[in-house]
Amino acid sequence: MGGSFKIGRAFGIDVKVHWSFFLLLAFFGYVGFRDSGSAASALVTIGIVVALFICVLLHEYGHSLVAQRLGSEVQDITLLPIGGLARLKTLPERPIDEVKVAVAGPLVNVVLAPIFFGLALLFGGSLFVPANIISGVDSVGQVFAYLGLINVALVVFNMIPAFPMDGGRVLRGLLATRLGPVRATEISSTVGQSFAILFIVFGFLSNNFLLALVGFFVFLGASGESQMVRQREQMRGLAVADVMGTKRRMETVTPYHTFGQILDSVIHGYQEDFPVIDEEGNLVGIITRNEIMAAAHSPDRYSSVRDLMKTEFPTISPDADLFADGYRVLQESGLRALPVVKDGNLVGMLTTDDVGQAALLRDLRKLR
Ligand SMILES: [Zn+2]
Repeated sequence: MGGSFKIGRAFGIDVKVHWSFFLLLAFFGYVGFRDSGSAASALVTIGIVVALFICVLLHEYGHSLVAQRLGSEVQDITLLPIGGLARLKTLPERPIDEVKVAVAGPLVNVVLAPIFFGLALLFGGSLFVPANIISGVDSVGQVFAYLGLINVALVVFNMIPAFPMDGGRVLRGLLATRLGPVRATEISSTVGQSFAILFIVFGFLSNNFLLALVGFFVFLGASGESQMVRQREQMRGLAVADVMGTKRRMETVTPYHTFGQILDSVIHGYQEDFPVIDEEGNLVGIITRNEIMAAAHSPDRYSSVRDLMKTEFPTISPDADLFADGYRVLQESGLRALPVVKDGNLVGMLTTDDVGQAALLRDLRKLR
């Protein structure tokens, strides 16, 4: 996220803080000082807010560590004034894994709350009279009582089924085991957006602008994620075979074709990239438009396809995923075209144009 910087790293995960977080600390420091008139008291207020965010950080680590165990890569954790955000590079694929990841965060607070309540009692605090962190703190026990209650609040608030909050993710994961990811996301997004509207309205009516702000982000998050899932599902299952040029409609050349013949094919034909097949029908090379045109303009004389063709090249299976595999192999090879091979036989060619057109189609669907 823009405007965030790293403050540390643990368990292989960078911890970042958004600059506006310090605005929040300054705000609490100011309010603490205004209400108590003492700088020491203002510092205590800031300290408690920091402690609160450490609980939020541990909550995010709960999500992150379980996600790591289930095979997801965690990019970073960012602390924002409205809470924490653990960014996963890949979401867990299995719905039940998403439920586990979602529950792990609040579970951390379930563990923390009784610890703080215990400390509160130990330090002579009353559980029902938490510290008022703004107007000054009377005792350490009351501070622990406050942190205990904050952890209870974190559990209760996060488990509201307002997708994409934790409770909403649990709801989606559970629905997805029966309804599939698209329908499950649609339902939980709708539920999430309804809660978001409630948060916003209730937030403004009760002058709780933080709640209204959270409602706003929940609303945006719910619509964004629902769109993302729909897209991913639309693109899933598009295989190389779906977009490649098939061998039936494809011109092949032999190593003995002359350079003049192949140049003619490129200039006057529709095809730009050619597999090279020998007498026994084996794929022995490929030759692409770029090479042919470069050769045409080079001072060297090429007499036959054999002089010019590439003999080292990757191939791809027709069943491979188009975007995950086909596109990646094309990119890594730096080639314009890949022979598509099944059981040792050439079945087609996949070109960068094929992938480009499929991507365009995908983007058009996205716009709709
Ligand atoms: Zn969470």
